[in-house]
Amino acid sequence: MSPVENMVKDFETTIKVSSSSPPSSSSCGHCYVRYGVCIVCKSAVDKSQGRAFDYLLQGLQLSHEAVRSTKRFTTQYHCHNNKKLHLVLDLDHTLLHSVRVSRLSKEEKYLIEEAGSKTREDLWQIKHREGSNDPYLIKLRPSLRKFLEEAEEMFVMYVYTMGTRGYAKARLKLIDPDGIYFGDRVITRDESPCEKTLGLVLAEERGVVIVDDTRHVWTHHKSNLVQIIKYNYFRDNGKQVSKTYSEEKRDESEKGGPLAKVLTLLKEVHCGFFGVKEELLESQDVRLLVQSALTQRQKRRKETLVGSRSLSSVETGSTFFKMKTMSLFLCFLPGFFYQK
Ligand SMILES: [Mg+2]
Ligand SMILES: [Zn+2]
Repeated sequence: MSPVENMVKDFETTIKVSSSSPPSSSSCGHCYVRYGVCIVCKSAVDKSQGRAFDYLLQGLQLSHEAVRSTKRFTTQYHCHNNKKLHLVLDLDHTLLHSVRVSRLSKEEKYLIEEAGSKTREDLWQIKHREGSNDPYLIKLRPSLRKFLEEAEEMFVMYVYTMGTRGYAKARLKLIDPDGIYFGDRVITRDESPCEKTLGLVLAEERGVVIVDDTRHVWTHHKSNLVQIIKYNYFRDNGKQVSKTYSEEKRDESEKGGPLAKVLTLLKEVHCGFFGVKEELLESQDVRLLVQSALTQRQKRRKETLVGSRSLSSVETGSTFFKMKTMSLFLCFLPGFFYQK
């Protein structure tokens, strides 16, 4: 049972024991709904009265007010208790690159043998479905493990992918088999089919940094975004004219590659956010820090006047200024449920 499921079970038991007179449907805020039924007043609740969080728990819906409170609480809780912000990571072309084995070029076929061998801890062959005869090769981006280890000390992390849940799960098995880094915090196309939104991330936007190679999917959150250069290891679509990393049997640099550079930027942002007196944390905003760090880099890049690929590993945006499970408890507080 996941921590969220545990928590919900505890909560359901508490409600049963304590609510000798549950609130009427009209006075209830319907903060917490499962499968369309408010867990407190037992009324049927319309989907428009909240937002679904199936990725945390199947059938879970929180009211808009509960989402707001939970976001506020989560950000405050992690800021004050373990100096953590939130980090949303894309999967494909950000943390890894994957390709169907059938799409490998002639010069890449040697990888099939290397995948999963003792010499390669960064390359795997996986099947999505049993019996599938066209498996995938998954290549992890250089310095990914170090990145996750160090980022985890500063951030509560989410994975947010436009792939399906099955697709994400298969990849997370390689990156985070025990769920240490991401836990239940995996948002997929199943919940978010058209665009990506921080509405589904249970933390205040002023405390969330996004790392993604694709900018346009983040329609409303570009100032939270650190756009990382696309990781293309395999040839895949054949558009690339020059040889690929796989064909040249080389890779991005471990120490100076895009992930390492983004990690340095994240450290700067984290340091800037917490470099104020505790009472001022409330008014800190990662969006200002992210944009300022990106602008500085752009400036330096212009000054050096070198347009190499490695120098553009972090790309800046043009639009400026624009839960952990525990936090759900806030919306379970009696005062919250019974407010008029
Ligand atoms: Mg991507
Ligand atoms: Zn209710």
